[in-house]
Amino acid sequence: MSCNNRQEPIGEIARMRHAASFEGPAPDIEFGCDVFDNETMAKYVSKETFNRTQEALESGTPLSRETADDVAQGMYRWATERGATHFTHWFLPLNGSTAEKHDAFLEIENGKAIMKFSGKNLILGEPDASSFPSGGLRSTFEARGCTAWDPTSPAFIKRHGNGATLCIPTAFFSNTGDALDRKTPLLRSLQALNASTRRLMKCFGKPSGKVTVSLGAEQEYFLIDRQYYLRRPDLIQTGRTVFGAAPAKHQQLEDHYFGSIRTRILNFMTEVERDLWRLGIPAKTRHNEVAPCQFELAPLFEEVNLACDHNMLVMEVLRQTAERNGLVCLLHEKPFNGINGSGKHNNWSISYDGRNLLNPGDNPGENAVFLTVLCAVIEAVDLHADLLRASVAGAGNDHRLGAHEAPPAIVSVYLGEQLTAVIEKLVTGSESGHKESRLKVGVDALPALPKSITDRNRTSPFAFTGNKFEFRAPGSSQSCSGPNVIINTIVAEAFDRMAQTLEKFDPEDFNDRLTTHLRKTIRSHRRIIFNGDGYTEDWIREAEKRGLANLPTTPAALAALSDDDNAAMFEKYGVFSRRELASRAEVFAADYQRRIHIEARIAREMAATMIRPAAMRDLDETLHAIRSAMDTNISAGVKAMVGHADAIGALVDELEVRICDLKSCPEDDPRGTTVRMARLRETVDAIEKLVADDLWPLPKYREMLFIC
Ligand code: ADP
Ligand code: MG
Repeated sequence: MSCNNRQEPIGEIARMRHAASFEGPAPDIEFGCDVFDNETMAKYVSKETFNRTQEALESGTPLSRETADDVAQGMYRWATERGATHFTHWFLPLNGSTAEKHDAFLEIENGKAIMKFSGKNLILGEPDASSFPSGGLRSTFEARGCTAWDPTSPAFIKRHGNGATLCIPTAFFSNTGDALDRKTPLLRSLQALNASTRRLMKCFGKPSGKVTVSLGAEQEYFLIDRQYYLRRPDLIQTGRTVFGAAPAKHQQLEDHYFGSIRTRILNFMTEVERDLWRLGIPAKTRHNEVAPCQFELAPLFEEVNLACDHNMLVMEVLRQTAERNGLVCLLHEKPFNGINGSGKHNNWSISYDGRNLLNPGDNPGENAVFLTVLCAVIEAVDLHADLLRASVAGAGNDHRLGAHEAPPAIVSVYLGEQLTAVIEKLVTGSESGHKESRLKVGVDALPALPKSITDRNRTSPFAFTGNKFEFRAPGSSQSCSGPNVIINTIVAEAFDRMAQTLEKFDPEDFNDRLTTHLRKTIRSHRRIIFNGDGYTEDWIREAEKRGLANLPTTPAALAALSDDDNAAMFEKYGVFSRRELASRAEVFAADYQRRIHIEARIAREMAATMIRPAAMRDLDETLHAIRSAMDTNISAGVKAMVGHADAIGALVDELEVRICDLKSCPEDDPRGTTVRMARLRETVDAIEKLVADDLWPLPKYREMLFIC
């Protein structure tokens, strides 16, 4: 009797036919048709209300009750015309997901049911939010959290099979005013960066511009057939495979990256993009990634708060569309051992009055601003590498960072050859060492820096890529908010410090003194600049010599959130109070520990109830065969069979020991648990390589990754 669980899905996949040619009229997709953006608002509210709303947005002041009521009426009319029956405040709690609690547009007035939506509904919500992680900020007896409308991120409509819901992006906080979400600190960090940027730009004679921070978040993900997923308890419960022997072929031929996209996947991507475009999310690029079954979606960059919301929706749409297509989208940072994991490249830039400050520009004045901003960012990263590292900490991402995979756990800045040469010229003078040939900021023009060739080092965690910084350490499942809160805050601090010095310079010798100051800044922080291969052992040693931290695990990385100087900075810039920071440290540490614990439990359970029985069946069959051979006096093959039985038997014994080992590890020892899980995995993977294929109960890597 075979317990093979795997032939059925393979057969079914083989019979699938995916529409490969497009017929019929091109679908009519109006970009942003499900978004209540400014253009739509202008059509649905009076001119006066529209102007008031824009004014309030510009100045950051709250709307009056009447204006809010008007906006709510317009929004309600628009949403119901588009089929919405419900609304929800949509928010980003600390559990890493999005949260929603739907209410119908329904009220009873004078005994009669009416459809209604008011300014109060729009502006403030009070979900009973007692079960969201708050890190001790709120006890259940005072469970009410509040959600408040974030008018900078437009409301949108989410559709499902037979209905639609109006979603209102909101910030989420406790009734004591403590932030309980990922949006509030992001908005606060933007305020801080706004003020510092204005202050710095004033030094260059540009006192009152508009600051825009942009983010383009490239999203990597895996797709596998849903039938495999449903047969893998580890994937269902943890998002990653805790067992699975390496297949003969994985990614070593490098034949998946940028390969032609298979029809089934392309159909999936097309559906995803249509949904995203309706939501006003500018999905732009799609391609195969390095690992088999791994893909990437990149949108055009947008204002950072909107881009963070949009990335959460991207992940949701990917998951839901996969399900509709008989697939599963795995967003875990490391679903499969031995092949690449998934990240999220965080492309960050800052503009002032529409000019990207990270654009070298082509006249001396622009160059002065560019080099000042560049030096400030370098300083910020060097001083707060610990916080950047902490912002991407998590159980899933530990498998990437510090595990010889993009990028390393050591934070460094990549500038590329040309820009490094410019910086060197600023610091040391020309190759010949003559003082006169030093670069004079704001007087000399910079050489043109070609964007394309500054972008080829993929091993750097924080790379300057032509006109933006690309932080490559965020994990594929993580919200973009965390890393951007940190980047905004540390850059705000660096801008502020820079401005403090520059404000003292006289206009006559401003450029000279700026040059000297930038030179000093670079000299103090050049240790963070590294253009080489970040994966090598040499770099680990070199980084240690330079005094750069290497923090491969989440607990080590999270220590930065308990640092007093860091707390003081967040407090100074109004991003986190000490209470809020401490609560986050607690939430993230607990999340890490719980995830590891869940992985350990499912690994034990699968080892005991799936792997061991498979091994014993194989052993039983083998022993049976040996007995039959001996009964019939056939000696050929007996030696091999005995050898096989011995090997399996020994592994079953080892399995037993390792299951017990894992079980006896205390729950609050994630490190020990991780080590023991890895050992158990070694045994299980060795068993997989020996047990008869038709007895193996779990979809194998070569199937999940290659048959789809
Ligand atoms: P890749 O990194 O794959 O070479 P690109 O560098 O062209 O691709 O772009 C990657 C992402 O960076 C995209 O989401 C793009 O919109 C975004 N991006 C491009 N320019 C900027 C910018 N000035 N600020 C922020 N993001 C940007
Ligand atoms: Mg990129």
